[in-house]
Amino acid sequence: MTSSNHDTDRRDFLQQSVFGTAAAGLAIASTSHVTAQTVSDAAEPEVANDVDVLVVGGGTAGHVAAIQAGRAGAKTLIVERNSQLGGTTTTGGVSFPGLFDAWGKQVIAGIGWELVKESVELDGGELPNFTRVPQRHWQNQVYTNQFLYAILAEEKCAQAGVEIAFYEFPQTVTKTEPGWQVDCVGFGTNRRVRCKQIIDCTGGAEVVGMLGFPRLREEERQPGSFLFMLGKEHQPGKSQNQRLHQLYVHGADSTNSRTATEANLTGRKSILARVRREKKKLMHLQPETGFRESYRIEGETLITVNDYTSGRVFDDAISYAFYPVDLHTRTGVRPKPLKPGKVPTIPLRALIPRGSRNIIVAGRCVSSDRLANSGLRVQASCMGMGQAAGVAATLAAKAGTTPLEVPLTEIHALLREHGQIVPGTA
Ligand SMILES: Cc1cc2nc3c(=O)[nH]c(=O)nc-3n(C[C@H](O)[C@H](O)[C@H](O)COP(=O)(O)OP(=O)(O)OC[C@H]3O[C@@H](n4cnc5c(N)ncnc54)[C@H](O)[C@@H]3O)c2cc1C
Repeated sequence: MTSSNHDTDRRDFLQQSVFGTAAAGLAIASTSHVTAQTVSDAAEPEVANDVDVLVVGGGTAGHVAAIQAGRAGAKTLIVERNSQLGGTTTTGGVSFPGLFDAWGKQVIAGIGWELVKESVELDGGELPNFTRVPQRHWQNQVYTNQFLYAILAEEKCAQAGVEIAFYEFPQTVTKTEPGWQVDCVGFGTNRRVRCKQIIDCTGGAEVVGMLGFPRLREEERQPGSFLFMLGKEHQPGKSQNQRLHQLYVHGADSTNSRTATEANLTGRKSILARVRREKKKLMHLQPETGFRESYRIEGETLITVNDYTSGRVFDDAISYAFYPVDLHTRTGVRPKPLKPGKVPTIPLRALIPRGSRNIIVAGRCVSSDRLANSGLRVQASCMGMGQAAGVAATLAAKAGTTPLEVPLTEIHALLREHGQIVPGTA
């Protein structure tokens, strides 16, 4: 068969499929075309990168860290084991990030806010009014189109010169003179990365664990949740503008591929049972469980719940955070709001694994006790940490030092230059 015959046959098949499925209530509107850029070394499994900053994990904190590093002039690579950026915000479907405001004013801005704002505006959505103090904390979470958000994050990475490697993860990490050699693997790809600084944004501090630095993990963790939507009438594309349902998956654990597989199988099996039982249509299902808790680092300092609820302003604060203490258990969650006027902060030392050099973390693995972490883990705070880690790693790479030895005034100045609000100066 010639290729043009093949194309015609394929078109006929697609058209038949369209008419066939339309009758059953599902229509493919049209097929359009786009061509991916040719990868020059596609047949070659061995790939090498020499970068200033390697970000492992392109989730809520990771893509912000990478965009910041790229914009500040660092040669930057993100290695992300999934197929898109955004992590729990997009792949987990928790596309209602918060909280960017506290007590009537914005306290977290910068790159995360820029992305959230742009994706809401592009989607014709509405931004909350931060001058109004809501009755319930969740009223100022920002409902965002998860699909647009992921694509905008890719666009901003490209504009900042950040290279992205999806479907890959580190296998070994070795110390070198200027920093690290990180050997990553993906299907059909072995990538050797030489970098000066690592930003670990894997959620559970996986690189920190590989290097043998101490981490904290509770005997019983908060449940994960699978996000989905059941309905009566199938409305493709509409469901994500409504609030999704959440199924608690108790025991959900993102520690490794086996525990994560178990959480996904358990969650999906239960949703299938509900579809059968309730005789409703499955209108929306995220591709994986959203995980609330796994490992946290033991950092150069540890944020306690008292630090958090008292709104302690640390000497080396690099970001604000704001959310109730929000621990989910087998019986549900009873958020404990912060007292009026209190706004917690996050110190740089809580992002540095104790005793380490040339590695920094950002995201829910921040060094904190369990109750403090239940508030710190939310997305605006993770984005704030990501931007600060991007700044600290870039300045350390440029100066040939480690993030903890970069003068704080330089970190604060660069953060402000890139639109972030710095505690004590807002
Ligand atoms: C069900 C649920 C509801 C929530 N509700 C809210 C809410 O209402 N408001 C709010 O603001 N926050 C909420 N949160 C909390 C918040 O969404 C998360 O804590 C936050 O998004 C975590 O960000 P992160 O960057 O630390 O991790 P993630 O966003 O999970 O990113 C980690 C990334 O690293 C990648 N990765 C992991 N390991 C590797 C590896 N070895 N190599 C390469 N890549 C790797 C992952 O694929 C992922 O993309 C909720 C969380 C859950 C699960």
